[in-house]
Parts: sequence; C-alpha cells; structure tokens
Amino acid sequence: MDQFNSLAVPHQARKRFGQNFLQDGAIIDRIVRAIGPAVDDRLIEIGPGQGALTLPLVEHLSEHASLDLLEIDRDLAAQLDRRFAHDSRINLHQIDALNFDFVSLRQQGHKALRVFGNLPYNISTPLIFHLLEQCSQVDHQRVINDMHFMLQREVVDRMAAQPGTKTYGRLSVMTQYYCTVEPLFEVPPEAFNPQPKVMSMIVRLQPFESLPIIANNPTVLHQVVKAAFSQRRKTLRNGLKHLINIDQLEQLDINHTARAETLPLTAFVKIANFLNESAPTS
Ligand code: SAM
Repeated sequence: MDQFNSLAVPHQARKRFGQNFLQDGAIIDRIVRAIGPAVDDRLIEIGPGQGALTLPLVEHLSEHASLDLLEIDRDLAAQLDRRFAHDSRINLHQIDALNFDFVSLRQQGHKALRVFGNLPYNISTPLIFHLLEQCSQVDHQRVINDMHFMLQREVVDRMAAQPGTKTYGRLSVMTQYYCTVEPLFEVPPEAFNPQPKVMSMIVRLQPFESLPIIANNPTVLHQVVKAAFSQRRKTLRNGLKHLINIDQLEQLDINHTARAETLPLTAFVKIANFLNESAPTS
C-alpha cells in the first residue's frame, strides 16, 4: 500500500463523527484525479479530517483558487488551522456541514462550487438531502457545479437505482431530479484506518444546468416522494391517500394500484405539479 502525506499528528478516530481515515496513497491519487481540480476552482471539502485528500489537492491549486474546509471535530479543525493558517486560498470552518449555507458561499464569488469529501457515513443520507436542496438555481446561476463523494456502496446503488428495482427509493428519485449520477469506482475497507465494515464507492453527482423535468414547487415534490416511499409495499392509492384520490391519479394517467418503487421520476413530478396547481391560494 502506498503511503501518503497527512497532518501526521496522532488522533484517536471518533466513531460519533464517522471517522475512517483514508490511508491508501493509490486510492487517494485516484480520487484526486477523478475530481480533476483546475487551478482557479472554488472547492469545498466536507470532513477534511487529517487532510488525506486536502493535502494532495492543494498542490493543484493556483493563488486564484479557493478551498473551504468544513470540519466538525474541534481537534482536527485546530490541526488543519495550524497547517493552513498562512494559506490565503484556504478557509477553515469548524462547523456541522448539515448547517452550512452553500448558497451564501456561492453568492460571494463568480463561480459555482465544486464539493467533495470522504463523507462521514453516519450522516451521509441527510447530508446528501441537504446538498440537493441547495442544488437549485439561485439568480439563474448554478450553486453547485459538481460533487465527488466517497459513500457506502449501498448508498451509491440507491442513488443510481432505476424504477422497478429493490434499491429504488426516495434517495434515487430526489438525486436524479437534480443531478446526473455517475458511480466511479469501489474502494475496499483496507483503504481506511479504522476499516469500515462495508464496501465504499466514489460517486460523481452533476447538477443539471437546466432541469430536464421541472417540479413547479420542489417542496411539494419532496413531500410526495416521502409519502409515497414511507411504506414502500403500499399501493400509490394508499400511500398517497392524504394527498390525492383515485380519480385524480387516473386523470393524470397514473395507475393507482402501482407501488412507488415502480414509478418513474416524471410521474412523481406530475403528481407534485397537480397538487401544487390545485392547492388553494390564500
Ligand atoms: N477526509 C478524511 C479522509 O479521507 O481521511 C476524513 C474522512 S472521515 C470518513 C469523515 C470526516 O468528516 C471526519 O474528519 C469527521 O470529523 C468529519 N465530520 C463528521 N461529521 C461531520 C459534520 N457533520 N460536518 C463536518 N464534518 C464532519
């Protein structure tokens, strides 16, 4: 296994922060090449930890680039601060990434953000939803250009899943509403210290420049998808009974005896737009 450069300060991995540090130089190199940093990028790393990805990546940046680091662990943030305090390209935020406002950061510069990270697996799904909510356009500009993440393989499978498969669910529909999903390569447990119990995978998510299918109110789409998959074995008629009735589903040409797991994104958007248009205006 190739060695790599890290902050090289002893640190006891904290389970509550999902700390599994990358230690395989060849894998790290492959991830950095997949991200393909350009000299003037605006990069954001979620969970830099001991800098396994940060340090090699910084090598590719010019003085016009910027890299914002979001790290929740106070000890690791202090180490990163010592290492990068004099580097004007790097901004360290000791923060929970779930509370970070990507839109505000986008508005402070002229380029869309490139987000990456070996994500803490204990919060990976809420983190993805938080990012997806920020993927919409603001002032006709994209907030996020692309995202490269290390995730559990099972989560990447769910993101990329197609209707009619066991893994197709809320995460698949909402990710595919905003982004193209490109699973890149697997990473085995041995690449980390401590080793996770599961296989991992690198995925590239690219928010659409203009959405191919538009929900007039994305919040309603979120509600419909959540309700439909909350009991995935139920028929649509039952799963959505608080939102839409059989006649209305038929009017939309949607089979009410179907299950959510068989429904394409277009059908969810159709239901959401119908509900949004028929909502009483106050
Ligand atoms: N990037 C490093 C690497 O590849 O070795 C560390 C990856 S480790 C899987 C996840 C990192 O995310 C840890 O540094 C952890 O402290 C940090 N982290 C966990 N929860 C976080 C949160 N809510 N917001 C920001 N960082 C978080």
